[in-house]
Amino acid sequence: MSLSLIAKTIKASPTLKLNEKFAILKEKGDPVIHLGGGEPKSRVPMEAILATVAHVNTGEVRYAPADGIPALKQAIIRYTEEFYERKVNPEHVIASGGAKQAIMVALQAILNPQEEVLFPAPYWVSYPDMAKLIGAIPVPVLPEDGTFYPRLKDITDRVGSYTKAVIINSPNNPTGAMYSEEFISDVVEFCEKKDLWLIMDDIYHRLIFDGRKPINCYKYAKKFDENSKIIVINGVSKQYAMTGFRIGWAVGNKKVIEAMSNIQGHQTSGPSVVLQKAAVAALNGIQSGVESLRATLENNRNVMIERLRSFEGVKVTKPDGTFYCFADFSAYDKDSNILSEFLIDKVQVLTVPGKEFGLDGYLRLSYCGTISDIQDGIERMKWALDLNSPNELYIGDRKLVRDWS
Ligand code: PMP
Repeated sequence: MSLSLIAKTIKASPTLKLNEKFAILKEKGDPVIHLGGGEPKSRVPMEAILATVAHVNTGEVRYAPADGIPALKQAIIRYTEEFYERKVNPEHVIASGGAKQAIMVALQAILNPQEEVLFPAPYWVSYPDMAKLIGAIPVPVLPEDGTFYPRLKDITDRVGSYTKAVIINSPNNPTGAMYSEEFISDVVEFCEKKDLWLIMDDIYHRLIFDGRKPINCYKYAKKFDENSKIIVINGVSKQYAMTGFRIGWAVGNKKVIEAMSNIQGHQTSGPSVVLQKAAVAALNGIQSGVESLRATLENNRNVMIERLRSFEGVKVTKPDGTFYCFADFSAYDKDSNILSEFLIDKVQVLTVPGKEFGLDGYLRLSYCGTISDIQDGIERMKWALDLNSPNELYIGDRKLVRDWS
């Protein structure tokens, strides 16, 4: 079949594929544990549910403006004031079908084919394919010092005449690393000096641990309003556990937001008005759910780290935020795809291979599930990989016997 050149370069999202695999195994009745997930399990805020139902009950569910309903823009403006100490107008804001679409239309608005977009590695799985979707070139940058914390030099070394944009995601999916204030300020200053677009993917900015505070990139900016090339991305998926509502947003200068709105208007139109109303209610409602999710995740992180540290051969860096831990399993297998398949096959634990995030030999383990999933999942992995462990393992009343060495 003659598919387009772009279609041939795009892979299915490995994390979405894993969710499908989980659903199939679960349906079969297999005792599978999902440590590969990317969504918190806490309840959606009650205000959001009520707003959804109330709007559906009007029986008037119509098209929404391409760039978002006024009430959602107002809620985003208030959010931007609270977390970024920045007053913006409705023309500086677009609501999209998830942060994913906000990033996609931003890239479509700023990149030409063959131009480059840089981002630190390990990176969120979608960045490379999003760039490829518009014929642009993704340039992942692995920190030279082998840590998950890039330095400005890592970025500047890779900037060339084709570089048009930089994406920073902190705290980071998949490592959980929150970059330092110093690094963020360096990047903001550098991008302004070189006239590069800077996309700040702040989707996890409130899910941070050990007393950290969200970093405000604008604090280091010298260019404001229509001269600013910073695009801040956020959404309700992670902080309000509203992944299925598909509402995200971007804040940027008027021209880029207008271009993004034009693109989105032809692509999907505005996001569903029902879901936008839900997002308004979550953003304007009681915020205690965000703190309680954050505290739960911090506790889950501690449990996961403690378990992994007692796992001989595994090297971990303690995550500063998000709900992911990116652990080095290369002592067991340097090929993370093989290792991840092995763990599903032998002990029904789902993990995401590090290769998908640009670093092989690692596995991304999520701690957004229950404590017992974390404990049992790691115990099963340990049993499967550590050949000094007993020859048998019970999962419920199923007995597993090791037939590998
Ligand atoms: N950025 C990052 C770093 C993410 O991890 C995700 C979701 N996994 C997104 C953006 C997209 O989020 P949304 O559900 O709002 O599209």
